[in-house]
Amino acid sequence: MADVVGFIGLGNMGGPMARNLVAAGFTVRGFDMVPAARSAATEGGVTVAETAAEAVHGAGTVITMLPSGPIMLSVWKEVLPLLPPGTLIIDCSTVDIESCRAAHALAADHGLAALDAPVSGGVGGATAGTLTFMAGGSVEAFGRALPVLQAMGKNMTHCGDAGAGQAAKICNNMILGISMIAVSEAFGLADRLGLSRQALFDVASKSSGQCWSLTSYCPVPGPVPASPANNHYKPGFAAALMLKDLRLSQAAAEGAGAETPLGQAATAIYERMETMGLGGRDFSAVFEMLTGAAPGTATA
Ligand code: NAD
Repeated sequence: MADVVGFIGLGNMGGPMARNLVAAGFTVRGFDMVPAARSAATEGGVTVAETAAEAVHGAGTVITMLPSGPIMLSVWKEVLPLLPPGTLIIDCSTVDIESCRAAHALAADHGLAALDAPVSGGVGGATAGTLTFMAGGSVEAFGRALPVLQAMGKNMTHCGDAGAGQAAKICNNMILGISMIAVSEAFGLADRLGLSRQALFDVASKSSGQCWSLTSYCPVPGPVPASPANNHYKPGFAAALMLKDLRLSQAAAEGAGAETPLGQAATAIYERMETMGLGGRDFSAVFEMLTGAAPGTATA
């Protein structure tokens, strides 16, 4: 029954991921608490179950895509005892390192193969089947997971043992949060100095200041036409999700005794954005907040 996948969490990410598994020929039994998510999944060919237990029944592989570590752990605690030894369970959610390690330990207690495999690429990547997966767990579990991961994504990296995938995700997104603020500050300063945004872009994108936040996701309208700045900062990647990941990075840093002063500052800046009611805007709208531009008024 290796071709039956139990999928729990059919939200913005999980919904399209489950549909891509169906398109690749897997039989997918899905469950979500929210009726709207269940009906959307049904339209995509997912066989929707009434409970998580029903969704995992007879599945060779189980995938969870849930909002947080505590929720993921509670679902794992519910379904793990129901799975035959040797079943592969993969968590693709972004969660805290502690919950992730606890989940791996639980899976080992039940004789299951487990993988943490968080993703980057957002809803667009989930829909297009082009996600990047960063995985933690045994080499054997990673090898077994590849056919399902390949149905949902394009790049898969085995990062190391249990928890290494979440560690990679948290570290990557801490870089992203900090670099978006750095690029936004530079454009704000350029504005004040009378330097045109296009000139700063032309120089920095070919100099040592170049990074993804500048060249692919530029926070000011103009230089990169596809960036959310040109679309009223509609996400994209919402500031609230960036704040979630930055908070995870700070919890991980505290637990591991790592100094992350810029990660701490970036977290405070995105907390300010959320307090101002801007958590639903794309995270690159941090440019507007930092420069004092009223939402939606940044111009090229
Ligand atoms: P979402 O809120 O749209 O989806 C989560 C789904 O889980 C919801 O439909 C919810 O009803 C369901 N759920 C919650 N508790 C449940 C339970 N006990 N049993 C069954 N279903 C339950 O969130 P999302 O955007 O799909 O994100 C999912 C995960 O992916 C999060 O950990 C997020 O951080 C991560 N992620 C999101 C993005 C993105 O751009 N949205 C990008 C990368 C990673």
